[in-house]
Amino acid sequence: MKELKDYVRTIPNFPEEGIMFRDITTVMQDPDGLKLAIDTMQDLVKDLDFDVVVGAESRGFIFGTPIAYNLHKPFVLIRKKGKLPAETVSIDYDLEYGKATLEMHKDSIKPGQKVLIVDDLIATGGTTEAMIKLVESLGGEVAGVLVMMELAGLNGRAKIAGYRLDSAVTYE
Ligand code: 5GP
Repeated sequence: MKELKDYVRTIPNFPEEGIMFRDITTVMQDPDGLKLAIDTMQDLVKDLDFDVVVGAESRGFIFGTPIAYNLHKPFVLIRKKGKLPAETVSIDYDLEYGKATLEMHKDSIKPGQKVLIVDDLIATGGTTEAMIKLVESLGGEVAGVLVMMELAGLNGRAKIAGYRLDSAVTYE
C-alpha cells in the first residue's frame, strides 16, 4: 500500500537554487493520494475541539475546505493582499524565500471562537506564525495547526512553540 509520502514529488532548485520543493500536485491529481491526504489529516485532529477552520491562499484552501466540509465547520479564507473585498486586518511577514502580506476579513471570526489553522506545509513557520497572529488579532483562540507536510530541519515547530502542531508527513 502506498504511503502519503509516496505521492509527493520533490523538485530540486524551485523556486530558487538550493530549495527542495515538495510538490503536492502529484498528491492531488491521484484520487487515492487526495483521499489519503484528507483522511490522514482529518484523523490527526479527531480529538481536537474547534469551531472554525482557517486556511491561507492557495494550498491551505485545498486541504482546509474538505476537512471543514466533512466536519460541518465554517471555512475562513486568509488571502494575499488586496483580494478580500470587505474590511480586513493584515499582517506582513518573511517567507523562506521573500516577503508577503496576508489578510483576513474582520468579521470572519468571532472573539473566543476556537480555530484550526490548516496549510499544506510548514517550513520556517513564518507563514503559520502570521496566520496565528491574524486569528488572534480578531480574538480567535488557536486550538491547533494542521499541515500535510513539515520540513523539520527548518524548525517551524519551535517558532510556534506553545501551539499544537499536527503534520501528516515529516521531512528532515
Ligand atoms: P514558511 O513560512 O513555514 O517558511 O513556509 C511555508 C509556506 O511556504 C507554506 O504556506 C507553503 O505553501 C510554502 N512552501 C514553502 N516551501 C514549500 C515546499 O517545499 N512545498 C510546498 N508545497 N510549499 C512550500
